[in-house]
Amino acid sequence: MKTLAVTIATSFLALSLVASGYGQSFNRLDPAESGLGVQAEIQTQTALTREEAAGLLFIREEEKLAQNVYSFLAKKWGPRPFGNILQAEAAHTAWVSALLKKYEITDPSASLPPGKFADPTLQKLYNEFEKKGSISRIEALKVGATIEEMDLFDLSRWAKTTNRADLQQVYENLARGSRNHLRAFVRNLSNAGFTYKPKHISQEEFNKVISSQNERGRGF
Ligand code: MN
Ligand code: MN
Repeated sequence: MKTLAVTIATSFLALSLVASGYGQSFNRLDPAESGLGVQAEIQTQTALTREEAAGLLFIREEEKLAQNVYSFLAKKWGPRPFGNILQAEAAHTAWVSALLKKYEITDPSASLPPGKFADPTLQKLYNEFEKKGSISRIEALKVGATIEEMDLFDLSRWAKTTNRADLQQVYENLARGSRNHLRAFVRNLSNAGFTYKPKHISQEEFNKVISSQNERGRGF
């Protein structure tokens, strides 16, 4: 009898939370997947600015680009180092998708197959990377390094357009992953006797990343 009462009370609480919209907003974002804290889950959701939404949409597809290029390169040149990094990109894409869902922004690439992009600039880049990465394993590693330094440039650019803790948190987790991936690609290139020169970030910023240790935590 006592158990039943507790069950009824619990069910009532759950129903109240659903009715108040709490359950709904909680379900939109799985903290285990997104790496976001509970604080971010229950904060009042106000609409994103146009710029914040544009940033999320761009980064969403830029992460898909990394994922799709590495998937292609892993099939072409084997899983090292593309296979491990590919798994991280799948997680990155999912985190950004979760934020789009949370703020009820339609994801234009949700149903697009690998190698297809809504953003024409990213589509053009994907085609170039696939072509260049097919030439040799060295060229494929250079494509990887280029993608990662491009990601770092874009993540820092979009992070400056928002003060939201949840967006900042995801951008920082993605950047941490990109720094680790850049180290991995540059190390592989160096082992093959090639010195990589950055094109998107400064030589100074590049040196700082390459000379520092791999970072643990979400994002890799
Ligand atoms: Mn990434
Ligand atoms: Mn990456």
